[in-house]
Amino acid sequence: MLIDVTGIIAKIGTVSEFSEKSSLESVSFYGNSYRTASPFDVYVKIRSTGDRKAQIDLNALVSLLIPCDRCLEDVSYDFDISYSREIDFNENSKDRCDNMDELSFIDGTQVNTDRLITDEIILDFPMQVLCRPDCKGLCKKCGCNLNKSKCDCDQFIPDPRMSVIGDIFKNFKEV
Ligand SMILES: [Zn+2]
Ligand SMILES: [Zn+2]
Repeated sequence: MLIDVTGIIAKIGTVSEFSEKSSLESVSFYGNSYRTASPFDVYVKIRSTGDRKAQIDLNALVSLLIPCDRCLEDVSYDFDISYSREIDFNENSKDRCDNMDELSFIDGTQVNTDRLITDEIILDFPMQVLCRPDCKGLCKKCGCNLNKSKCDCDQFIPDPRMSVIGDIFKNFKEV
């Protein structure tokens, strides 16, 4: 949702609360797009702290569908977002850029909550997601999901150094 804080920051002590189902459908990260598992509730509280500053608190529990690192099945991964920070609306995007403190979710006096949630998810993105700790992954030969089916493929991956020794033995036999 887009919240314009103009009316809130005009008077110190003003508090506004917003609760809404988010329409955020996916999050893009490193060229991949991850779908949200379902619409989720977003709760935002904005409190004017005076001099065009405001304390912003946002809470949301977002489930993203992230493929398992081994078998590629989608896993519903939860991000429990709890954001709390005072924002100075006197600063524009150039000021923030100069201060190395860019806030992509602020545009003038508008707060874009989907953008804020996306930024928080990216900051907290897991290195690896597994559908279960002992996921057997995919067969390297036929590609079947080894959690669900069995194949007759030989899972032995020969060590190239061993094949040299094998050749030596073979040659030795032929002598
Ligand atoms: Zn898996
Ligand atoms: Zn196989």
